[in-house]
This record gives sequence, structure tokens and C-alpha cells, in this order.
Amino acid sequence: MALLQISEPGLSAAPHQHRLAVGIDLGTTNSLVATVRSGISTVLNDEQGCALLPSVVHYAADGEVLVGQMAQEEQSAYPHNTIVSVKRFMGRGLKDVGDVSNLPYRFVEATGSAQAPGMLQLRTAAGVKSPVEVSAEILRVLRLRAEQALGGELVGAVITVPAYFDDAQRQATKDAARLAGLNVLRLLNEPTAAAIAYGLDNAAEGVYAVYDLGGGTFDISILRLSRGVFEVLATNGDSALGGDDFDHRIYCRLLEKNGLSALPAPDIRALLTHARAAKEQLTDHLEARVTAVLSSGEVIDNVLTRAEFHEMSQNLVQRTLQALRKALRDAKLAASEVKGVVMVGGATRMPHIQQAVGDFFGQSPLNNLDPDKVVALGAAIQANVLAGNRSGDDWLLLDVIPLSLGIETMGGLVEKIVPRNSTIPSARAQEFTTYKDGQTAMSIHVVQGERELVSDCRSLAKFELRGIPAMVAGSARIRVTFQIDADGLLSVSAREMASGTEASIVVKPSYGLSDEEITRMLHDSNQYARDDMMARALREQQTEAAQLLEAVDNALRQDGEELLDAAAQARIRGSMDGLRAVIAGSDHQAIKRAVEALNLASTEFAQKRMDKSVKSALAGHKLSELE
Ligand code: ADP
Ligand code: MG
Repeated sequence: MALLQISEPGLSAAPHQHRLAVGIDLGTTNSLVATVRSGISTVLNDEQGCALLPSVVHYAADGEVLVGQMAQEEQSAYPHNTIVSVKRFMGRGLKDVGDVSNLPYRFVEATGSAQAPGMLQLRTAAGVKSPVEVSAEILRVLRLRAEQALGGELVGAVITVPAYFDDAQRQATKDAARLAGLNVLRLLNEPTAAAIAYGLDNAAEGVYAVYDLGGGTFDISILRLSRGVFEVLATNGDSALGGDDFDHRIYCRLLEKNGLSALPAPDIRALLTHARAAKEQLTDHLEARVTAVLSSGEVIDNVLTRAEFHEMSQNLVQRTLQALRKALRDAKLAASEVKGVVMVGGATRMPHIQQAVGDFFGQSPLNNLDPDKVVALGAAIQANVLAGNRSGDDWLLLDVIPLSLGIETMGGLVEKIVPRNSTIPSARAQEFTTYKDGQTAMSIHVVQGERELVSDCRSLAKFELRGIPAMVAGSARIRVTFQIDADGLLSVSAREMASGTEASIVVKPSYGLSDEEITRMLHDSNQYARDDMMARALREQQTEAAQLLEAVDNALRQDGEELLDAAAQARIRGSMDGLRAVIAGSDHQAIKRAVEALNLASTEFAQKRMDKSVKSALAGHKLSELE
């Protein structure tokens, strides 16, 4: 029985005013495109009826470019001209991706001005390609698919990215979309998109977990929904754990069963493909049979049971639960406080994953939408709102930044301005001041990380604010504002409040951090928290002491003879020597005492100078000139 679909009031726009917009899940393994039609989010299929486009691009020597299934078929014959999992390289330098020795590609580092130097590129039969260009090929196919299905040009697209993607990775994704002829309405975090697809934005307020096991990556996100707004409380995961690892377990078992060891590359690929098919079959069946003929002529014919498969891959499942525990710990929540669990990624179809996640949370996960489509479906809903097809008043979506952002202050210390896990978009400002009398320029150094010392954090950008009016140290007011837009891109500006002089910079780091690095930086910051605190106290004390010494020294040279007798001058100089003797040491208490002693010794002198400067300022001026 067919039912007529009636959309909610306000959900369906009249056809002539409906603006075509899509949501795109640009996945590591598979990509797909969805749109909202008659108020319902739907995935758009290709001509063969397939929704999933394998994220694979093949470059042939004659310049032909194949994308998707057809590209995948070339993989074993032309491994270095067939790019898989390009998402891992987005916005990354060679240094960031770690060990590439087991990848078949010919990597080169970008030089020249068109590409950010240090970014990784791939040498293919069709020339050197950047990950942005490779991703653009995938996006272009999806754009054409959508335009054909919807019969018109798109006003824009929402593209999803992992919640942990940094600035460089987000920027690279945007660049790829633009190159593919797409207008990016917004980048959206994948877990947030999945939650939207389940309509959780209209559900009860509370904490939700999104468990995303894709082909090669695992991401866990803890979201809080309040007043219709999602906030990412924490993210965790493993960028080297996914459905592929389960394939690999089956592959190893096949080698074992047949007494095989080293195989030629094409056999490895072929057997892995069989392994993946067996894995997927075991989701709905208790047994899977693998039959294959190796290039040596040897025949493989084995039956695998589901029980056997679950047993051999149980520790992979456990690894996902470890990351899950860490994310909950970061969010300071117990599993029982999670209201609902969303399953994302094709690999979550496996029954032992469903079982383990259900047991962990003590509730059945939400899984009635296709786990490999939910992200695209949610992105389409968001795109529909942003394109103006629905009122979007209650659609403010919040994501978080993975590492704190701040600036360098005197003594090589970090002042955090936006703390880690702050929701975005966001803008925060803090006031700073000059260190020296008459200082007219200030160097702003933007850093990322959790540690107290600049040398332990990552440098993102440097710029200078010039034209600060000359004033006494400590009296200029420089307001530094950090702004992170909805896509997670950072801009920093500094403004001198009296004169209005301003300088700013958009931070577009040449390449990003890997999640391992983020994890390491967070780990270090916990481990070294006490050391850092001590180091910070010492540096602060030293900076203050050096500043005081310089100020007193200047003052003595200018006014010492005039305002003080010899004994008073000697007393001050004695205290200065006392401070100089301890300033370079590591005893911050001793420095503090010496600073106090010098302050005390010079109080009277400071008072006399103040009187003198007020008198000289007033002399020869009309009162009206003094503002
Ligand atoms: P990504 O987010 O990395 O692009 P997907 O969400 O498309 O990846 O997930 C791809 C993974 O899902 C592959 O490892 C694939 O084998 C696995 N998968 C798809 N369907 C099933 C199934 N029925 N049973 C088990 N695994 C599946
Ligand atoms: Mg995915």
C-alpha cells in the first residue's frame, strides 16, 4: 500500500522557489550525496542504482581520470596511479602522515607558491596531483550526479568532515569543493550530521554518543543537545582502525588455513577483496565461503563461520571500546549518562559490534537508518536549511576545537585564549599590554596546544601590530581577538584601544596535526602539568624581575642624581644587585623576595618621580590641553 507523503508545514517549498542544495559525505572509503526532496532526506544513486561511490581515483597515462568503482578495478594493476583513502592526506605534509613505506604512492613535497610548501603531493601517470585535486575529482562526480538527478544547478553543498579535522584539513576540503565547482554552504562535523539524520535535534535534551566505524577509521564523538543545539563535548578514535582491519584478520586466517606466506601483490589485493566480501556476508549469515584461484594456480576454498570471525576480531572491537572510555572520561561522563547511541559507518553493521556497543551503554543503539548513509542524510537536511528552504532559526550547530589556542607572552609563556573543546563558531578576546616604555610595536605569536611553554606547543602564525602610540610600559591596552568561524577556521586580530591601530591574520597553517599528535600533546599536557606550573611561575617571576630592574635602572639614570642622596641611591643599587644575583636561578621564591625588597627600597624614589613628572607635565600647558 502506498501512502501519500505529506510534509510538515513549512518543510516543502513550492517547486519554483526550491533552491537545490545537497549534503556530501566525503568519506575515506566511500562518498555519497543526498538531498531533501518533498521534505524528506534521500540519498541520490548513480545510473546503476548505487548510492556509495568508492573514494578511489585512477589516473591513466592518456590523461583519462576514472572515479569510483571503475577506478577501484584498476587498483591491483596500477597501484601507484590509483589513489585510495586520499582523505588521510588532506591538508597534510609528508611529516604528518608518518610511515608511508607500505603505501604504493610516489610522494613529493609541494614547492612553489601555488601550493603551501611542505604539503604532500602524489606523482601519477597524469602528472603531480595534490590531495585537494584528487578529492575534487570525487566531489565533481557527485556534483554531476546531483545536478542530473535534480535537473538544475546547485546553489550549494554542505560537506562533512571528521570532528577532529584541524584548520588545514578543513581548508583543504573547502578548496577541493571549490575546485569541483561546488559552493560550500558549510562544513559540518560528521557526528553532528548523523545526529541530525536521526532527528535528535528534535529529541529529548541530553548527551548522545556517535560511534563511527568506517573502512579505515574509527571516531567516537560525545554530543550534548540542549535547546536544540548540539555541542561536541569530546572526540576520540583511532585513525588506523576500521572495517579494513577486519578484512585483514580474515585474510590472515585464509593464509594460515592454506599454509601460505608471502603472496604477489595482485593476489594480496584479490584475497583482501574476497575477505571483505566474506566479512560482509557474515553480517547476515552464519557462514561464508571463500573460493579463489591464485596466480600460481593454487585454489583456495574455505568456509568461515561467524563465531570464528568474531573470535578472531574481538580485540579490534575492544580497541574501539577503549577509545570510547577515553572520550567519556574527557567529557567527564559515565556510560549510563548517555541518552542515545548513534551507529555510523558501514562496519557497524557487524553483529558483534552492535552487541559490544549495546552492552557497553546498556541500551540498544540507534541503527534503523543505513549506517553508511546517515552522515550524508544529515548533511542534506542541514544544506536544505542553509539554502533557505526552511526557516533555520533554531539551527545553530556547535562543534568544538580539539586543542587550545593562545598567544605567546613575555618569557615564552602561553596565554590560552580559546580553551580546548570550546564550541565553534566562537569569538574570544583578551587584553594585553606593552612590556617596555615607549614600545610601539608588538609581535603576536599564535600557538596551539595545552602546555604552558611556547616551546612545547605548536606555532601556528606570527604577525606584528605596529603604530602603537609610545606610552609607559603597562599602560597601552591591546585587545587580541580570536575568531573561529563555523568551519573551524581561525582569524586573529589585535587592536590598540586608544588609537584604534589594528592588525590581523587568517591562520591557515601549511599543514596539520595528526590525531596521534593531538593525542600526544594532550597526554604530555597532563603528564607535565605540575612541571609546567612550576616552570610558568618561575618564568613569570623572572620576567617581572627583569622588567623591574630595567625600569629602576632607567629611572636612576634619569633622576637618581637629582632626586636622591648618595645613601638612598646606594640602597636601591644594593637591592638591585640582590635581585640580579638570584634572577637566573630556579628558586622562584627567592626571586619573589628580591623583587619585593627592590620594590620596597624604591618606593620613595618612585613617589618623588611621580611628583616631578606631574609638575613638568603641567608646566607650560593650559589645563584644557590635558585630557
Ligand atoms: P568511510 O566512512 O570510511 O568512507 P563506510 O562508512 O562507507 O566508510 O564503511 C566502509 C566499511 O563498511 C568497509 O570496511 C565495508 O566492508 C564495511 N561494510 C559495509 N557493509 C557491511 C556489512 N554488511 N557488514 C560488515 N561490514 C560492512
Ligand atoms: Mg564515514
